[in-house]
Amino acid sequence: MKKIFIFLGPPGSGKGTQTSRLADKLSIPHIDTGSLLRKNIEENTPLGIIAKGFIDKGNLAPVEVVAKVIEDRILKPDCANGFILDGFPRSLEQAYELDKIIEHTSFDLKKDALAVYFDIDNDVLIQRLINRRSCPKCGTIYNLLSNPPKIMDYCDICDSKLTLRKDDNEETARARFVTYEKETAPLYDYYKQLGILKELDADRPISDIWESLKEIVFEE
Ligand code: ADP
Ligand code: AMP
Repeated sequence: MKKIFIFLGPPGSGKGTQTSRLADKLSIPHIDTGSLLRKNIEENTPLGIIAKGFIDKGNLAPVEVVAKVIEDRILKPDCANGFILDGFPRSLEQAYELDKIIEHTSFDLKKDALAVYFDIDNDVLIQRLINRRSCPKCGTIYNLLSNPPKIMDYCDICDSKLTLRKDDNEETARARFVTYEKETAPLYDYYKQLGILKELDADRPISDIWESLKEIVFEE
């Protein structure tokens, strides 16, 4: 079975929702650059101060900032059996950085990695994003329309009050789609050419996508 999973797809396509399930099932870390950057912003670190302006505008944070965050995370011992990347790489430049980082590990990109592309039309995604709520404590993701918590605004798992991400407003979400088309969409061809890309129809219920994901992951 593959050990490195690279989840690709537009904002709101359901990567984080499925990554959490797969990370639990395979007992490997879920590495989500968006959350790592938001944590740095919350803690007011030098890196967070740089990243904030980019995130608020729906742009990508500078490659050197994100690559450093990812490299530090991937080289931690808990990644030795594999890991899932959600939100990285997000440009060809970042993909080349990832190739270099993986060369410093015991993994081989072509042999050990699988890129999973979440195929979905952008039209439905704005509604998904503005209705997304997440738990600041355990990270569980909800949706007020498609996947609501049992008690409005509170996490089913740990009871914490759910939050709305600052960049999940319509204006910033639209900017994020423009960034996605320009910077991130070319990764589809990059990983296809490497022969490590599989895709799934992400415009279906969460449980159906999970079944397809397991088929893809376990057939490998
Ligand atoms: P991404 O990580 O790709 O940005 P998320 O997993 O955070 O996407 O999902 C975005 C929003 O859409 C969340 O509110 C989530 O609950 C909801 N969502 C995820 N998958 C589906 C789905 N298959 N159908 C409907 N809503 C979904
Ligand atoms: P996400 O949580 O994946 O939706 O990411 C939220 C925001 O964090 C993005 O719109 C970017 O501004 C920033 N971000 C996340 N991942 C990256 C990355 N790999 N490279 C640059 N910026 C990123």
